[in-house]
Formats: sequence, C-alpha cells, structure tokens
Amino acid sequence: MSSIIYKSFETEALSREEAIEILNLPDENLPALLDTVYAIRRKYKGNTVGIQILTNARSGNCSQNCAYCAQSRDSEADIDKYRLVPYEKLLHDGRIARDKNLSRHCIGLSGIRFSDREIDEFADCVKNLRKEVDTHICCSIGFLTLQQAQKLKDAGVNRINHNLNTGRNFYKNICTTHTYDERISNIKMLQNIGFEICCGGIIGLGESMGDIVDMLFEIRDINPESVPINFLIPLKGTALANANTSHLSPEYCLKILCLARLLTPKSDIRCAAGREVYLKGKEKLMFYAVDSIFASGYLTAGGQSIEDTIKLVADAGFQYRIE
Ligand code: SF4
Repeated sequence: MSSIIYKSFETEALSREEAIEILNLPDENLPALLDTVYAIRRKYKGNTVGIQILTNARSGNCSQNCAYCAQSRDSEADIDKYRLVPYEKLLHDGRIARDKNLSRHCIGLSGIRFSDREIDEFADCVKNLRKEVDTHICCSIGFLTLQQAQKLKDAGVNRINHNLNTGRNFYKNICTTHTYDERISNIKMLQNIGFEICCGGIIGLGESMGDIVDMLFEIRDINPESVPINFLIPLKGTALANANTSHLSPEYCLKILCLARLLTPKSDIRCAAGREVYLKGKEKLMFYAVDSIFASGYLTAGGQSIEDTIKLVADAGFQYRIE
C-alpha cells in the first residue's frame, strides 16, 4: 500500500511529486484514498451535495479558439446560436432552481469581451431574476472590465466562473487567442472586488498528469470557493472531436477528484460535465470527494435530469444542500 494515502494532508502540504503519485496510485489503492479524502470532505462539507443548473444565456459566435468548445470561432458543431436568451427562459430556469431547492443557478455566456450595453442588458436580467426568484446566481462571462464586473455585482451576481481549463504549459495546445495570464488576472480582479470565484478545468484534452497537477496547484493558489472538474465530452465539429479519452477510466477520474479535494479541501468540488459518461456505474463513489454537481445538462451537451440527480444523491446516502 502506498504511504501517500496515510499522509496527514491537513497538516502537511502536498508536493507536486506526491500529487502525481496520487494520480498514479494503483487502482487497488483507490478505496483507501477515497476513505482518506472522505474524512476531509466530511469535515468541511458534511454529508451534503449542492446541485446546480446551467442556462446557456448566450450561445455560439465566440471570437476565441478554445479547442474543446462547440461555441468557438473554429467549431463546426451544430449548435443553436443566439445573442441573449429571452428573459423568460432565465426566469423559467431560475424558478426551477428555486422550486427544486437547488443550490445555485449558473448562467453561461459565450464570448470573451462584452460591450457596456450588453453588460447593462444582462445586469438588468439578473436584477429582475433576483427580485422574482432570489436564487444564488453564478455567471461564466469571459473577461470583464472592472466597471462591468462591479455592475454585475451590484445587480446581484455573487460568484463568477472563470476556469483555467488546463495546466499553464499545455494551454497553448488548446487556445491561442488569449493567454493563461489573462485568465489569472481576470480572476484576481474579480476576487479583489469581492466576488466568490468558481475556477476549475477540463480533463481529457491531451494533457499529461503533470499538466493536471500544474492546473490544480494554480487553482490552489487562487483558493476559489468552487472547483468544477469537467471530463471532456468530445463534440462533433470541434477541434477535439476525435480526442482520445479512453484513459478516463472511472478510477482515474476519481483520483483526480480526490486530488482536487486534497489541494482545495474547503472549496466546493464539483464533478461537472462528463460525469454521466466516464463515471458510469461508479457515480456514487464521487461523493467521497465531491460535494457539488450539475443537473439537467451542460452548455452544449445533455446530462442527467434533475429528478435522477436528486435520486443519485439520496441513493448514495447524501443529502442535497439547500443554500
Ligand atoms: S470557452 Fe468561452 S472563450 Fe473559449 S471559445 Fe468557448 S465561449 Fe469562447
């Protein structure tokens, strides 16, 4: 049995080499790793799982070339493209979040930069949503100016998602139209004005274990409130349509989720896109590390229904968290 499992993670910092050792653990050691990680998860998150839904509020036509993304300028994926969904759709999803006691309504907007008019229009939607359904709202919304960010904060957005997606050295392989450092400085600006941060990545882009560890160490330094870990769903028409994801076994995915918990023990660790694909049959085990999941699909890919997600949480012996 590897001694790394018995390290006192709470008092001793995990080194880069040890983090790679965790990802390399023989599968037979996974139950012991899950037990160790569960003790930490339980200390900070109890027995609860937050469930979020996602609205794709603006879709397609992005100027950027993120290789995994169906909305990128280079994507030929057959997706709906629109500038801003009608407010009624946001309200409909907000009501679902409220009525089903979900923990958060996440709203994604494609694109990297927005005009002040676009931000004003979206901020008005958020203000109205907060008045009518009063759910927690998180946005994924490219790079903002300080003034735009402040406007969204004043409108009632309390958390912003901005992922690092992969390790710094690997980033050039998945995007060349903006830099890793631009992402980090956007996050720092948002943090400085008091936003909660949701910052994670995507596994299965062709990265090495070292790249995953690099990303998780960058995320540890950011110390976000929430860490979404996505597993690539290769979408037809995207640059990564034929990506080889055969190494994403349930065991490997679980080790990555465990590492995320060990490195950012107090954050929400969210198993996001791909859980339905790669954890098949072992979904319940993810809750040893994870305290947050999406229901009802992702930006451009379907997913498990809200009812089935709630049932999954209950069947695994956890309670869904109402915030
Ligand atoms: S991930 Fe965001 S920035 Fe990158 S192409 Fe997609 S919508 Fe654009």
